[in-house]
Amino acid sequence: MQTMNKTTDSLLASAKQSLLYTANRPEVVMTRGEGMYLWDTDDKCYLDFIGGWAVTSLGHSPAALQEALTYQSGQLVHASPGFYNKPMVEFADLLTEVSGFDKVFFASSGAEANESAIKLARKHGALHLNGAYEIITLTNSFHGRSLAMMSATGKEAFKPLFEPKVPGFIHVPINDFDACFAAISDRTCAIMLELVQGEGGVHAVDGPYLQALRKACDIYNIMLIFDEVQTGLGRTGKLFAYEHYGIMPDVMTLAKGIGSGFPLSAMLTTAEFDLFEPGDQGGTYSAAPLGMAAGHAVVSEIIRLGLADNAALQGDLIKEKLTALSTEYPISQVRGKGLLLAFDVPEGSAPMLAAECFKKGLLVNAPNQSAIRLMPPLIVSADDVEQMISILAIALETVGLKNEAICS
Ligand SMILES: *Cc1c(COP(=O)(O)O)cnc(C)c1O
Repeated sequence: MQTMNKTTDSLLASAKQSLLYTANRPEVVMTRGEGMYLWDTDDKCYLDFIGGWAVTSLGHSPAALQEALTYQSGQLVHASPGFYNKPMVEFADLLTEVSGFDKVFFASSGAEANESAIKLARKHGALHLNGAYEIITLTNSFHGRSLAMMSATGKEAFKPLFEPKVPGFIHVPINDFDACFAAISDRTCAIMLELVQGEGGVHAVDGPYLQALRKACDIYNIMLIFDEVQTGLGRTGKLFAYEHYGIMPDVMTLAKGIGSGFPLSAMLTTAEFDLFEPGDQGGTYSAAPLGMAAGHAVVSEIIRLGLADNAALQGDLIKEKLTALSTEYPISQVRGKGLLLAFDVPEGSAPMLAAECFKKGLLVNAPNQSAIRLMPPLIVSADDVEQMISILAIALETVGLKNEAICS
Protein backbone atom coordinates (compact mmCIF):
# COMPACT_ATOMS: atom_id res chain seq x y z
CA MET A 1 0.00 0.00 0.00
CA GLN A 2 2.86 2.33 0.94
CA THR A 3 4.50 1.96 -2.49
CA MET A 4 1.12 2.42 -4.19
CA ASN A 5 0.61 5.73 -2.39
CA LYS A 6 4.11 6.79 -3.32
CA THR A 7 3.33 6.12 -6.97
CA THR A 8 0.19 8.20 -6.71
CA ASP A 9 2.00 11.04 -4.94
CA SER A 10 4.78 11.18 -7.49
CA LEU A 11 2.30 11.01 -10.39
CA LEU A 12 0.34 13.89 -8.86
CA ALA A 13 3.53 15.89 -8.31
CA SER A 14 4.55 15.33 -11.95
CA ALA A 15 1.06 16.21 -13.16
CA LYS A 16 1.24 19.54 -11.36
CA GLN A 17 4.68 20.21 -12.78
CA SER A 18 4.08 19.35 -16.41
CA LEU A 19 0.39 19.81 -17.20
CA LEU A 20 -1.15 23.20 -17.90
CA TYR A 21 -3.63 23.97 -15.13
CA THR A 22 -6.94 23.92 -17.02
CA ALA A 23 -9.17 21.96 -14.65
CA ASN A 24 -9.65 21.40 -10.92
CA ARG A 25 -9.10 17.69 -10.54
CA PRO A 26 -9.28 15.57 -7.37
CA GLU A 27 -6.04 14.14 -5.97
CA VAL A 28 -6.32 10.71 -7.57
CA VAL A 29 -5.03 9.13 -10.77
CA MET A 30 -7.41 6.88 -12.71
CA THR A 31 -5.84 3.74 -14.14
CA ARG A 32 -8.48 1.23 -15.14
CA GLY A 33 -12.11 1.00 -16.14
CA GLU A 34 -14.57 -1.83 -16.60
CA GLY A 35 -18.29 -1.52 -17.23
CA MET A 36 -19.78 0.85 -14.64
CA TYR A 37 -16.54 1.17 -12.64
CA LEU A 38 -13.30 3.12 -12.60
CA TRP A 39 -10.27 2.35 -10.43
CA ASP A 40 -7.49 4.67 -9.28
CA THR A 41 -3.80 3.94 -8.59
CA ASP A 42 -4.64 3.12 -4.96
CA ASP A 43 -7.13 0.54 -6.26
CA LYS A 44 -10.08 2.52 -4.96
CA CYS A 45 -13.19 1.70 -6.97
CA TYR A 46 -15.73 4.28 -8.20
CA LEU A 47 -19.27 3.65 -9.41
CA ASP A 48 -19.38 5.92 -12.45
CA PHE A 49 -22.52 8.05 -12.90
CA ILE A 50 -20.53 10.65 -14.86
CA GLY A 51 -19.76 8.12 -17.60
CA GLY A 52 -16.63 9.86 -18.87
CA TRP A 53 -18.83 13.02 -19.23
CA ALA A 54 -21.71 11.29 -21.04
CA VAL A 55 -19.15 9.59 -23.29
CA THR A 56 -18.68 5.96 -22.25
CA SER A 57 -22.05 4.82 -23.62
CA LEU A 58 -21.08 1.12 -23.54
CA GLY A 59 -19.34 1.45 -20.17
CA HIS A 60 -15.59 1.42 -19.64
CA SER A 61 -13.34 -0.63 -21.94
CA PRO A 62 -16.19 -2.48 -23.66
CA ALA A 63 -15.26 -5.70 -25.46
CA ALA A 64 -16.89 -4.55 -28.74
CA LEU A 65 -14.68 -1.44 -28.84
CA GLN A 66 -11.54 -3.35 -27.86
CA GLU A 67 -12.14 -5.91 -30.61
CA ALA A 68 -12.83 -3.28 -33.26
CA LEU A 69 -9.71 -1.28 -32.33
CA THR A 70 -7.54 -4.40 -32.19
CA TYR A 71 -8.75 -5.68 -35.55
CA GLN A 72 -8.64 -2.34 -37.36
CA SER A 73 -5.24 -1.32 -35.96
CA GLY A 74 -3.87 -4.52 -37.51
CA GLN A 75 -5.44 -3.66 -40.88
CA LEU A 76 -5.08 0.09 -41.35
CA VAL A 77 -4.81 2.89 -38.79
CA HIS A 78 -4.61 5.85 -41.13
CA ALA A 79 -4.65 6.12 -44.90
CA SER A 80 -4.87 9.93 -45.38
CA PRO A 81 -7.94 12.12 -45.53
CA GLY A 82 -7.36 12.11 -49.30
CA PHE A 83 -8.47 8.49 -49.68
CA TYR A 84 -11.63 6.51 -49.12
CA ASN A 85 -11.33 3.67 -46.63
CA LYS A 86 -13.67 0.74 -45.96
CA PRO A 87 -14.72 1.51 -42.33
CA MET A 88 -15.54 5.09 -43.41
CA VAL A 89 -18.03 3.86 -45.99
CA GLU A 90 -19.53 1.25 -43.66
CA PHE A 91 -19.98 3.70 -40.80
CA ALA A 92 -21.44 6.41 -43.05
CA ASP A 93 -23.95 3.85 -44.35
CA LEU A 94 -24.91 2.77 -40.83
CA LEU A 95 -25.28 6.30 -39.43
CA THR A 96 -27.34 7.64 -42.31
CA GLU A 97 -29.53 4.53 -42.19
CA VAL A 98 -30.35 4.80 -38.47
CA SER A 99 -30.53 8.59 -38.17
CA GLY A 100 -32.95 9.61 -40.94
CA PHE A 101 -30.31 11.86 -42.55
CA ASP A 102 -28.74 11.46 -45.99
CA LYS A 103 -25.18 12.71 -45.61
CA VAL A 104 -22.48 12.73 -42.96
CA PHE A 105 -19.17 14.47 -42.29
CA PHE A 106 -16.87 12.98 -39.64
CA ALA A 107 -14.55 14.78 -37.21
CA SER A 108 -13.00 14.07 -33.82
CA SER A 109 -14.80 16.29 -31.30
CA GLY A 110 -18.16 17.86 -30.65
CA ALA A 111 -16.80 21.37 -31.19
CA GLU A 112 -15.54 20.39 -34.66
CA ALA A 113 -18.86 18.79 -35.62
CA ASN A 114 -20.62 22.01 -34.55
CA GLU A 115 -18.09 24.13 -36.48
CA SER A 116 -19.01 22.05 -39.54
CA ALA A 117 -22.68 22.75 -38.95
CA ILE A 118 -22.00 26.50 -38.67
CA LYS A 119 -19.91 26.45 -41.85
CA LEU A 120 -22.72 24.62 -43.65
CA ALA A 121 -25.24 27.18 -42.36
CA ARG A 122 -23.09 30.06 -43.59
CA LYS A 123 -22.66 28.33 -46.94
CA HIS A 124 -26.47 28.09 -47.11
CA GLY A 125 -26.63 31.80 -46.24
CA ALA A 126 -24.11 32.65 -48.93
CA LEU A 127 -25.82 30.56 -51.61
CA HIS A 128 -29.50 31.07 -50.81
CA LEU A 129 -29.99 33.98 -48.38
CA ASN A 130 -28.00 36.89 -49.85
CA GLY A 131 -25.03 36.30 -47.57
CA ALA A 132 -26.95 35.88 -44.31
CA TYR A 133 -24.47 34.69 -41.67
CA GLU A 134 -26.02 35.11 -38.21
CA ILE A 135 -26.79 32.09 -36.08
CA ILE A 136 -29.29 32.27 -33.23
CA THR A 137 -28.39 30.10 -30.21
CA LEU A 138 -29.75 29.86 -26.67
CA THR A 139 -28.78 31.46 -23.39
CA ASN A 140 -27.22 28.88 -21.06
CA SER A 141 -26.32 26.63 -24.02
CA PHE A 142 -23.02 24.81 -24.53
CA HIS A 143 -21.57 24.07 -27.95
CA GLY A 144 -17.85 23.53 -27.35
CA ARG A 145 -14.55 25.25 -26.70
CA SER A 146 -13.14 26.29 -30.05
CA LEU A 147 -13.23 30.08 -30.38
CA ALA A 148 -16.29 30.02 -32.66
CA MET A 149 -18.11 27.54 -30.42
CA MET A 150 -17.32 29.63 -27.32
CA SER A 151 -18.96 32.46 -29.26
CA ALA A 152 -21.96 30.25 -30.04
CA THR A 153 -22.22 29.09 -26.42
CA GLY A 154 -24.62 31.08 -24.25
CA LYS A 155 -22.70 30.73 -21.02
CA GLU A 156 -22.19 33.80 -18.83
CA ALA A 157 -18.68 32.70 -17.77
CA PHE A 158 -17.49 32.57 -21.41
CA LYS A 159 -18.54 36.16 -22.15
CA PRO A 160 -15.41 37.99 -20.96
CA LEU A 161 -12.97 35.35 -22.25
CA PHE A 162 -10.70 35.60 -25.31
CA GLU A 163 -12.21 38.72 -26.79
CA PRO A 164 -12.97 39.54 -29.51
CA LYS A 165 -15.34 36.66 -30.10
CA VAL A 166 -16.27 35.33 -33.53
CA PRO A 167 -19.08 37.66 -34.67
CA GLY A 168 -22.50 36.54 -35.85
CA PHE A 169 -23.96 34.71 -32.85
CA ILE A 170 -27.11 35.95 -31.10
CA HIS A 171 -28.33 34.43 -27.83
CA VAL A 172 -31.99 34.20 -26.83
CA PRO A 173 -33.67 32.54 -23.79
CA ILE A 174 -34.78 28.90 -24.02
CA ASN A 175 -38.50 28.16 -24.63
CA ASP A 176 -39.25 31.78 -25.54
CA PHE A 177 -40.38 31.77 -29.16
CA ASP A 178 -41.15 35.49 -29.22
CA ALA A 179 -37.55 36.31 -28.25
CA CYS A 180 -36.27 34.03 -31.00
CA PHE A 181 -38.70 35.42 -33.54
CA ALA A 182 -37.63 38.96 -32.65
CA ALA A 183 -33.99 37.98 -33.26
CA ILE A 184 -34.68 36.63 -36.76
CA SER A 185 -33.68 39.05 -39.52
CA ASP A 186 -32.49 38.96 -43.11
CA ARG A 187 -29.02 38.27 -41.66
CA THR A 188 -30.16 34.98 -40.04
CA CYS A 189 -29.00 31.74 -41.67
CA ALA A 190 -29.54 29.24 -38.82
CA ILE A 191 -30.91 28.49 -35.37
CA MET A 192 -28.82 26.06 -33.31
CA LEU A 193 -29.87 24.47 -30.03
CA GLU A 194 -29.55 21.49 -27.69
CA LEU A 195 -32.84 19.64 -27.10
CA VAL A 196 -31.81 19.03 -23.52
CA GLN A 197 -29.20 21.54 -22.37
CA GLY A 198 -26.56 19.34 -20.74
CA GLU A 199 -23.83 21.58 -19.35
CA GLY A 200 -26.49 24.22 -18.66
CA GLY A 201 -27.97 22.02 -15.93
CA VAL A 202 -30.30 19.63 -17.82
CA HIS A 203 -33.14 21.74 -19.19
CA ALA A 204 -35.29 20.38 -22.03
CA VAL A 205 -36.96 22.44 -24.75
CA ASP A 206 -40.78 22.33 -24.96
CA GLY A 207 -42.52 20.56 -27.84
CA PRO A 208 -44.68 23.52 -29.00
CA TYR A 209 -41.62 25.82 -28.87
CA LEU A 210 -39.64 23.44 -31.05
CA GLN A 211 -42.57 23.14 -33.45
CA ALA A 212 -42.72 26.93 -33.74
CA LEU A 213 -38.95 27.06 -34.42
CA ARG A 214 -39.30 24.44 -37.15
CA LYS A 215 -42.13 26.37 -38.75
CA ALA A 216 -40.23 29.68 -38.65
CA CYS A 217 -37.18 28.01 -40.18
CA ASP A 218 -39.32 26.57 -42.98
CA ILE A 219 -40.98 29.91 -43.71
CA TYR A 220 -37.75 31.93 -43.80
CA ASN A 221 -35.55 29.17 -45.26
CA ILE A 222 -33.38 29.20 -42.11
CA MET A 223 -31.36 26.09 -41.25
CA LEU A 224 -32.39 24.33 -38.03
CA ILE A 225 -29.46 22.67 -36.25
CA PHE A 226 -29.78 20.29 -33.29
CA ASP A 227 -26.61 19.89 -31.25
CA GLU A 228 -27.09 16.27 -30.15
CA VAL A 229 -23.47 15.92 -29.06
CA GLN A 230 -24.65 14.99 -25.58
CA THR A 231 -28.24 13.84 -26.23
CA GLY A 232 -27.58 11.59 -29.23
CA LEU A 233 -27.05 7.83 -29.52
CA GLY A 234 -29.49 6.58 -26.91
CA ARG A 235 -28.65 8.96 -24.06
CA THR A 236 -32.18 10.36 -23.65
CA GLY A 237 -34.05 7.08 -24.07
CA LYS A 238 -34.43 7.36 -27.85
CA LEU A 239 -31.62 6.82 -30.34
CA PHE A 240 -31.79 10.58 -31.04
CA ALA A 241 -33.47 13.19 -28.82
CA TYR A 242 -35.30 14.69 -31.81
CA GLU A 243 -37.47 11.53 -31.84
CA HIS A 244 -39.08 12.65 -28.54
CA TYR A 245 -40.45 15.69 -30.38
CA GLY A 246 -41.15 14.22 -33.81
CA ILE A 247 -39.32 17.18 -35.32
CA MET A 248 -36.40 16.70 -37.70
CA PRO A 249 -33.71 19.36 -37.91
CA ASP A 250 -31.81 20.10 -41.13
CA VAL A 251 -28.53 19.32 -39.41
CA MET A 252 -27.70 17.18 -36.39
CA THR A 253 -24.33 16.90 -34.68
CA LEU A 254 -23.14 13.90 -32.66
CA ALA A 255 -20.05 13.23 -30.53
CA LYS A 256 -19.58 12.05 -26.92
CA GLY A 257 -21.39 8.65 -26.87
CA ILE A 258 -20.64 7.87 -30.52
CA GLY A 259 -17.20 6.43 -29.75
CA SER A 260 -17.73 5.34 -26.11
CA GLY A 261 -14.38 7.00 -25.38
CA PHE A 262 -12.76 6.98 -28.79
CA PRO A 263 -12.58 10.65 -29.92
CA LEU A 264 -15.12 10.88 -32.71
CA SER A 265 -17.90 13.15 -33.96
CA ALA A 266 -20.28 13.52 -36.87
CA MET A 267 -22.38 16.16 -38.57
CA LEU A 268 -25.41 14.82 -40.41
CA THR A 269 -27.62 16.63 -42.88
CA THR A 270 -30.24 16.08 -45.55
CA ALA A 271 -29.78 15.90 -49.33
CA GLU A 272 -31.27 19.41 -49.49
CA PHE A 273 -28.27 20.83 -47.62
CA ASP A 274 -25.60 18.82 -49.43
CA LEU A 275 -23.83 22.14 -50.09
CA PHE A 276 -20.13 21.67 -49.30
CA GLU A 277 -17.68 21.63 -52.18
CA PRO A 278 -14.15 20.20 -52.00
CA GLY A 279 -12.05 22.57 -49.91
CA ASP A 280 -14.90 23.87 -47.75
CA GLN A 281 -14.45 21.42 -44.92
CA GLY A 282 -12.01 18.68 -43.95
CA GLY A 283 -9.48 17.59 -41.35
CA THR A 284 -6.46 15.34 -41.15
CA TYR A 285 -8.33 12.83 -39.01
CA SER A 286 -11.72 13.15 -40.70
CA ALA A 287 -13.12 9.64 -41.26
CA ALA A 288 -9.79 7.94 -40.47
CA PRO A 289 -10.17 4.13 -40.42
CA LEU A 290 -9.47 3.48 -36.73
CA GLY A 291 -12.11 5.92 -35.53
CA MET A 292 -14.60 4.75 -38.13
CA ALA A 293 -14.20 1.14 -37.01
CA ALA A 294 -14.63 2.25 -33.39
CA GLY A 295 -17.76 4.27 -34.16
CA HIS A 296 -19.27 1.49 -36.24
CA ALA A 297 -18.72 -1.01 -33.42
CA VAL A 298 -20.10 1.32 -30.74
CA VAL A 299 -23.22 2.41 -32.61
CA SER A 300 -23.94 -1.19 -33.72
CA GLU A 301 -23.66 -2.32 -30.11
CA ILE A 302 -25.93 0.48 -28.82
CA ILE A 303 -28.56 -0.70 -31.29
CA ARG A 304 -28.00 -4.44 -30.81
CA LEU A 305 -28.29 -4.19 -27.02
CA GLY A 306 -31.29 -1.85 -27.17
CA LEU A 307 -29.46 0.67 -24.98
CA ALA A 308 -31.82 3.55 -25.80
CA ASP A 309 -34.63 1.48 -24.26
CA ASN A 310 -32.45 0.67 -21.26
CA ALA A 311 -31.71 4.38 -20.87
CA ALA A 312 -35.45 5.10 -20.80
CA LEU A 313 -36.11 2.30 -18.31
CA GLN A 314 -33.25 3.06 -15.90
CA GLY A 315 -33.83 6.79 -16.25
CA ASP A 316 -37.41 6.34 -15.04
CA LEU A 317 -36.18 4.17 -12.18
CA ILE A 318 -33.61 6.80 -11.13
CA LYS A 319 -36.25 9.55 -11.23
CA GLU A 320 -38.60 7.44 -9.12
CA LYS A 321 -35.89 6.71 -6.52
CA LEU A 322 -34.75 10.35 -6.40
CA THR A 323 -38.33 11.48 -5.90
CA ALA A 324 -38.65 8.97 -3.05
CA LEU A 325 -35.42 10.34 -1.51
CA SER A 326 -36.86 13.84 -1.64
CA THR A 327 -39.23 13.07 1.25
CA GLU A 328 -36.19 12.81 3.53
CA TYR A 329 -33.62 15.03 1.83
CA PRO A 330 -33.81 18.47 0.19
CA ILE A 331 -33.85 17.18 -3.38
CA SER A 332 -36.05 19.03 -5.88
CA GLN A 333 -36.65 19.54 -9.60
CA VAL A 334 -35.84 15.94 -10.59
CA ARG A 335 -35.61 16.36 -14.36
CA GLY A 336 -34.20 15.20 -17.68
CA LYS A 337 -34.76 12.45 -20.19
CA GLY A 338 -33.40 8.90 -20.18
CA LEU A 339 -29.94 8.90 -18.65
CA LEU A 340 -29.35 12.64 -18.87
CA LEU A 341 -30.76 13.61 -15.49
CA ALA A 342 -30.38 16.24 -12.81
CA PHE A 343 -31.86 17.40 -9.54
CA ASP A 344 -31.46 20.49 -7.42
CA VAL A 345 -30.09 20.73 -3.89
CA PRO A 346 -29.93 23.90 -1.75
CA GLU A 347 -27.96 26.69 -3.49
CA GLY A 348 -24.22 26.34 -2.90
CA SER A 349 -24.29 22.72 -1.73
CA ALA A 350 -23.96 20.83 -5.04
CA PRO A 351 -20.14 20.86 -5.32
CA MET A 352 -19.81 19.78 -1.67
CA LEU A 353 -22.28 16.93 -2.20
CA ALA A 354 -20.51 15.76 -5.38
CA ALA A 355 -17.20 15.82 -3.46
CA GLU A 356 -18.70 13.73 -0.65
CA CYS A 357 -20.07 11.20 -3.17
CA PHE A 358 -16.59 11.03 -4.69
CA LYS A 359 -15.08 10.25 -1.26
CA LYS A 360 -17.59 7.44 -0.90
CA GLY A 361 -16.79 5.98 -4.34
CA LEU A 362 -19.62 7.45 -6.42
CA LEU A 363 -19.00 9.76 -9.38
CA VAL A 364 -21.65 12.43 -9.99
CA ASN A 365 -21.31 15.86 -11.60
CA ALA A 366 -22.24 19.29 -10.20
CA PRO A 367 -22.73 21.47 -13.31
CA ASN A 368 -23.40 24.48 -11.06
CA GLN A 369 -23.82 25.44 -7.39
CA SER A 370 -27.30 23.94 -7.03
CA ALA A 371 -27.56 21.01 -9.46
CA ILE A 372 -26.33 17.43 -9.49
CA ARG A 373 -26.23 15.80 -12.92
CA LEU A 374 -26.26 12.05 -13.63
CA MET A 375 -25.13 10.65 -17.00
CA PRO A 376 -24.08 7.04 -16.41
CA PRO A 377 -23.12 4.57 -19.14
CA LEU A 378 -26.19 3.33 -21.04
CA ILE A 379 -25.52 -0.21 -19.77
CA VAL A 380 -26.43 0.81 -16.19
CA SER A 381 -28.55 -1.81 -14.37
CA ALA A 382 -31.23 -1.59 -11.66
CA ASP A 383 -28.63 -2.89 -9.16
CA ASP A 384 -26.26 -0.06 -10.10
CA VAL A 385 -29.10 2.42 -9.61
CA GLU A 386 -29.87 0.91 -6.19
CA GLN A 387 -26.22 1.24 -5.19
CA MET A 388 -25.97 4.82 -6.48
CA ILE A 389 -29.07 5.85 -4.50
CA SER A 390 -27.79 4.30 -1.28
CA ILE A 391 -24.38 6.02 -1.55
CA LEU A 392 -26.11 9.30 -2.42
CA ALA A 393 -28.35 9.01 0.67
CA ILE A 394 -25.33 8.43 2.92
CA ALA A 395 -23.50 11.38 1.31
CA LEU A 396 -26.55 13.65 1.83
CA GLU A 397 -26.61 12.54 5.46
CA THR A 398 -22.87 13.15 5.91
CA VAL A 399 -22.94 16.70 4.54
CA GLY A 400 -26.00 17.44 6.71
CA LEU A 401 -28.55 17.93 3.96
CA LYS A 402 -31.74 16.74 5.69
CA ASN A 403 -35.29 17.99 5.30
CA GLU A 404 -35.85 18.23 9.09
CA ALA A 405 -32.87 20.54 9.47
CA ILE A 406 -34.26 22.84 6.78
CA CYS A 407 -37.80 22.88 8.30
CA SER A 408 -37.01 23.41 12.00
C1 LIG B 1 -19.64 18.32 -24.85
C2 LIG B 1 -20.46 19.12 -25.76
C3 LIG B 1 -19.90 19.81 -26.87
C4 LIG B 1 -18.42 19.86 -27.12
O1 LIG B 1 -17.90 18.61 -27.44
P1 LIG B 1 -16.30 18.40 -27.42
O2 LIG B 1 -16.12 16.98 -27.87
O3 LIG B 1 -15.86 18.67 -26.02
O4 LIG B 1 -15.74 19.38 -28.37
C5 LIG B 1 -20.77 20.46 -27.72
N1 LIG B 1 -22.09 20.47 -27.52
C6 LIG B 1 -22.66 19.83 -26.48
C7 LIG B 1 -24.15 19.85 -26.32
C8 LIG B 1 -21.87 19.14 -25.55
O5 LIG B 1 -22.43 18.53 -24.51
